[in-house]
Amino acid sequence: MQPMPPEAPAEETKNVADSGRTLCPVCNCRMSPLYEIRRFDPPLDIWKCAGCALQSNLTRPDNLGELYSEGYYTGEADYTYEDERKNEAANDQVWQARLKTIQKTNPAPASFLDVGCSFGGFVEAASRAGYAARGLDLSHFAVQEGRKRGRDLYCGPVDEPTFPAEDFNVITLIEVMEHLPDPARAARTFHHWLKPGGLLLIQTANFDGLQAKREGPDYHYYLPGHLFYYSAANLKRLLAVAGFRRFKLYRPVDFPLAAKLRKMKLQSAPQSPGFQRLLRTSMYHLKGRMALGDFALTSSMVLYAWK
Ligand SMILES: [Zn+2]
Repeated sequence: MQPMPPEAPAEETKNVADSGRTLCPVCNCRMSPLYEIRRFDPPLDIWKCAGCALQSNLTRPDNLGELYSEGYYTGEADYTYEDERKNEAANDQVWQARLKTIQKTNPAPASFLDVGCSFGGFVEAASRAGYAARGLDLSHFAVQEGRKRGRDLYCGPVDEPTFPAEDFNVITLIEVMEHLPDPARAARTFHHWLKPGGLLLIQTANFDGLQAKREGPDYHYYLPGHLFYYSAANLKRLLAVAGFRRFKLYRPVDFPLAAKLRKMKLQSAPQSPGFQRLLRTSMYHLKGRMALGDFALTSSMVLYAWK
């Protein structure tokens, strides 16, 4: 039998079809176009899976490292938010509160890895809480800066050989999962690195939330470098396929509102953050707790998954 010549894809979809990016990494269904987000140049091409509603940003450079230049970490790139080095005292309020929640099931002393650790502020907070804490980041710049502060940081991608099997009791990804280009492989890698009973903590936006649905293409979470947009349901499904067995979902976040307000006060010092802003944050937090099943008013979530 003669081999069939490969079918030539239509010109406008050639690049994405060639790259295999239109198959959903969670459920293998085909993805189809959802939005073109024109506030960026080039516009972001967002596709959505018909099976599990995972969304993917097909606009990405061939070399993802291009997105994480020094400017990304110093707040100069137009799609980043802050230089974390200037806000460590404020962020520490939230880091400490989060560590208290982690301690309830996976207490120190234990080995701890923060993936996408940037300068390693959270790594240092975990060390102070008694964990043997390390960090991993793609950026040479951020890792070098963090090491100058005495933090145990590694530079590299999420790649299985980076660490031995069953090396960690806790792995955290704070606003990082959405950056990873191969979610299924990343989930398997985290499972491989964790000891039995180990905890994987993922904070990312929940696209099942009313906030993301209502704001549509205007939702601020659509950014260059954010490659996948999850829901609680499809994130759990991805992790379950990789072998994770037990889940706990926190909405909006896994720490109390008081920690967030303390963070805001320190961020705005010496001026106080203003009653309006504190009230807005408090209302957002309370709205975030209005959630039942897949329904949630806001799109904030933190998923804990245990091996
Ligand atoms: Zn899917």
